[in-house]
Amino acid sequence: MERLSWDQYFMAQSHLLASRSTCTRLVVGATIVRDKRIIAGGYNGSIVGGPHCIDVGCYMIDGHCVRTIHAEMNAILQCAKFGEPTDGAEIYVTHYPCLQCCKAIIQAGIRAVYYAKDYKNDPYAQELFEAAKVTVKKVPFDAVISFRSLREQKN
Ligand SMILES: [Zn+2]
Ligand SMILES: [Zn+2]
Repeated sequence: MERLSWDQYFMAQSHLLASRSTCTRLVVGATIVRDKRIIAGGYNGSIVGGPHCIDVGCYMIDGHCVRTIHAEMNAILQCAKFGEPTDGAEIYVTHYPCLQCCKAIIQAGIRAVYYAKDYKNDPYAQELFEAAKVTVKKVPFDAVISFRSLREQKN
């Protein structure tokens, strides 16, 4: 078996995290990396102690499930909670970040976003990433080892 590249290794980690998602609408994972070291990870899910979409259904407002905290936010907040600087870090996400996560990523000082799949790529998010000089690169997850959850394959 070939040795995994760093990109595929971190992307695999994000896909593994995505398999822990508790929302039925989209299964997302994010891994924050600094100096080739994983400093935080997140998936989209409810707040601590809250009911899960997979148990009680999504909480829909204007076509979005508002129950969950996005994977990128969860990863950034994990750094805040445990005092891990995100300045100059990189983030690996299974899907192109939404506008709110885009702003949080920029504001946290994250310098690069690697995403596996396009997902309603917001033109304003693209504009903001560009203006902030954040590197954004599509890295399709094609590792030999596939951690993709059965749930996602069904969707
Ligand atoms: Zn949901
Ligand atoms: Zn988001």
